[in-house]
Amino acid sequence: MASLRSINQEDLRNHNLSVIIDTILRSSSPLSRADLAKATGLTKATMSLLGAMLLDNQVVREMQPDSSQSTYGRPSTPFTVAHGRWAGIGLQINTDGYGCMALDLDGTVIDSRWEDDDMRETDPDDIFARLDAISGPIEEDLRRKGYRTVGSGLALPGLVADGRELLMARNLGWGQLKLERFDLFRRLGPVAGNEARMAALAQIPGYATQRPVGGGDSRLSPTDSFIYISTDIGIGGAVVKRGTVDVGDHGFAGELGHVSVDLNGPTCRCGRRGCLETYAGRRALVEAADIVTGARAVSPRAADELYRRWEAGDPGAVDAIDRGLDAMISVMASAINTVDVDTVILGGFWSNFGGNLAQRLEDRLTQLVLGRQAVKVRVLMPSVAEYPALRGAAEVGLRKFIDNPLTFFGQGV
Ligand SMILES: [Zn+2]
Repeated sequence: MASLRSINQEDLRNHNLSVIIDTILRSSSPLSRADLAKATGLTKATMSLLGAMLLDNQVVREMQPDSSQSTYGRPSTPFTVAHGRWAGIGLQINTDGYGCMALDLDGTVIDSRWEDDDMRETDPDDIFARLDAISGPIEEDLRRKGYRTVGSGLALPGLVADGRELLMARNLGWGQLKLERFDLFRRLGPVAGNEARMAALAQIPGYATQRPVGGGDSRLSPTDSFIYISTDIGIGGAVVKRGTVDVGDHGFAGELGHVSVDLNGPTCRCGRRGCLETYAGRRALVEAADIVTGARAVSPRAADELYRRWEAGDPGAVDAIDRGLDAMISVMASAINTVDVDTVILGGFWSNFGGNLAQRLEDRLTQLVLGRQAVKVRVLMPSVAEYPALRGAAEVGLRKFIDNPLTFFGQGV
């Protein structure tokens, strides 16, 4: 009985530490021990003990005492996440390149590297070897700086089963890939997942890194619900409900790019007709604007040309974008009506198209949402727009620590 009781004590301590770290990360203002005790329901004595553990293990540091917030006459000393000890690694293979990012628990990007490349019909062994070659120096850099790497994530542009098998990524021409066959995967043991889901996680304030004081430029709160649409050659999506990604029963929820908007539309790579991707995907837009067709339509140069022509008012480009927008609005409205959330975040390629794009989308969506009398639709551009899936993947790695901090304490580098 004695050993059973001590195991439960450890579990409880682990759980409490996890809740405290989560509370610190999600807060938009620094919290003192007294604030944390109040927010978590822990006693002041327990909070004091666990606070000491978090300080000893360099998870938090004490800020300057705040004499305006005194408790029993003593100024309160708020905590903030310490810099320089705990890191997650994000990996991504996408249709336009591959890269690696190391992220500090305080939200600082420690190191990152991205290689632009045309990834269609590439050899997975070759790409994983190249990703391995750019990750190695970043891992070495972390060790040299005294970081403890707690976990990693791998964002892929396709359907991923159980975090370790890529069932298919049509825009790469890859399928049925057991990820454990790659050295990089065996070495870092990342949690693999769909890129749109990882990009969506990166938008949730305080999900796995310290939220900026005052909330930063995010218009979301940590428990908001939203639909994230990730746009590139393919279009992906994720549904976030109250701060948690709803992955569905098999892990494949949110595939908005394959919602059909026209039963007689063009045939999609998935086999259906009139999918959103065939109107609003990067390649589809370049072809519809008559810039180039076929393999050359996926090049970043072709996308730049589309953007240039659209800005100059070229009728072909403007028409293509308008048609893409119609398709996007149709799918967004269907998604809002299906899952009942009021916020859509438009990420990726499409977020380049004009400062008033969000407002235009909002105005048109409002007309199409069934509950419009009661629902105020918001369309937001992502607050994390630079490599959001890569950052989200690193945050997935950091979550391993946040969910189980005690297992990492007291161990070496
Ligand atoms: Zn499709």
